[in-house]
Amino acid sequence: MDLTTAGSDIAKVIVNGQEIKARLHELARQVERDYEGRDLLIIGILKGAVMTMADFSRALNRHIEMDWMAVSSYGSGTKSSGVVRILKDLDRDITGRHVLIVEDIVDTGLTLAWLKSNLESRGTSSVEILTMLRKPEAAKVEVDVKYVGFDIPKEFVVGYGLDYDEKYRNLDFIGVLAEHVYA
Ligand code: IMP
Ligand code: MG
Repeated sequence: MDLTTAGSDIAKVIVNGQEIKARLHELARQVERDYEGRDLLIIGILKGAVMTMADFSRALNRHIEMDWMAVSSYGSGTKSSGVVRILKDLDRDITGRHVLIVEDIVDTGLTLAWLKSNLESRGTSSVEILTMLRKPEAAKVEVDVKYVGFDIPKEFVVGYGLDYDEKYRNLDFIGVLAEHVYA
């Protein structure tokens, strides 16, 4: 869905579709260099990271494997609860693997901090994180995010996989949700 159709639900555009694609291509080059000569398993976090996984993985000029996890950290609201639950686990054992977690956004960092240590406890050789977006608060939590698409202000954003109450995931850009939608 484009901005014209989304209309007044979007207060402002943060990153447009072209900027997203361009940035993912840059990150892909970096990941290709960093993982040269090593097998790579990328793990997408459902459902928010679906678009990022789709575009990032296709930008990678090398073989990879993909798996998916679903965790819940939010309900249907706009605040992080800090409680993480696994809704769908990996299909395969990841012992000895080099893992790259692909996320939509790091807000408080609670979800990723938990996820990273959870995957590390499974005997992986390495676990790194790629996120499309990062909010400033993330810096306060001890989670090392190696690849960041864009640092954005502390506002609730939707689009390109990110939802509000399961809607707006199919926007082809990332924008700030207008207050009248959830106020
Ligand atoms: P954290 O645990 O606070 O870092 O929250 C991470 C998760 O919360 C993300 O994977 C998103 O699903 C969700 N989230 C955080 N900020 C936003 C936002 O601005 N828009 C939509 N979802 C968000
Ligand atoms: Mg979400």
